[in-house]
Amino acid sequence: MKLGVMGGTFDPIHMGHLVTGEEARYEFGLHRILFVPSARPPHKKERRNSPAADRVRMAELAVEGNSHLGVSDIEVRREGLSYTVDTLRALHVMHGAATELYFITGADAILEILTWKDPAELLAEAYFIAATRPGYPLERLHEALPALNSHGEAAGSRVFTLEVPALAISSTDIRDRVAAGRPFRYLVPDPVWSYITEKRLYL
Ligand code: ATP
Ligand code: MG
Repeated sequence: MKLGVMGGTFDPIHMGHLVTGEEARYEFGLHRILFVPSARPPHKKERRNSPAADRVRMAELAVEGNSHLGVSDIEVRREGLSYTVDTLRALHVMHGAATELYFITGADAILEILTWKDPAELLAEAYFIAATRPGYPLERLHEALPALNSHGEAAGSRVFTLEVPALAISSTDIRDRVAAGRPFRYLVPDPVWSYITEKRLYL
């Protein structure tokens, strides 16, 4: 089985995340995409996230009706900081060593991968898909790829790129819009829009 894994704070999950997951599924022949909201991302300590329960629930609402997409709360249930390498290890235990994991992330984050915890093991646990928008300058990524692909014991190419239709959507912008009373409907799936509105998140 080929399992796509998309980590993030998902505060809130939005159309950019879903389009990326769907595109990766199609382009790489993945059987399923799992969205994994993180509890305590090592890189984002400065901002207080919404409660994990809200972020997990919004992700569940977002994937409803698409049997290829799922949500996992493993990072939320785990103690301490949410390191990707720990998540990939746990997913391999749960789904079997033969399952191929594809970690999907933004191209900018991929450039920092060697600064993440246990980079060699990280690259051995999963393939990486760096999502970019069409026209995104890939020079920096292509310059970094040889170093990434030859890192550690993982043989062969471990990092791929994927162009995703341009979506200038970010969770930060959505939170700002909600706080300012500006429209954000259709930047997120309708049930997520209703949830944010009803629970008065980000005000
Ligand atoms: P924030 O603004 O709070 O950082 P975000 O929109 O970047 O939120 P994250 O939860 O940080 O969302 O991102 C999860 C993953 O989704 C990351 O790998 C990020 O690169 C990717 N991503 C975020 N926005 C988009 C988008 N519009 N299109 C494609 N991928 C995206
Ligand atoms: Mg982000």
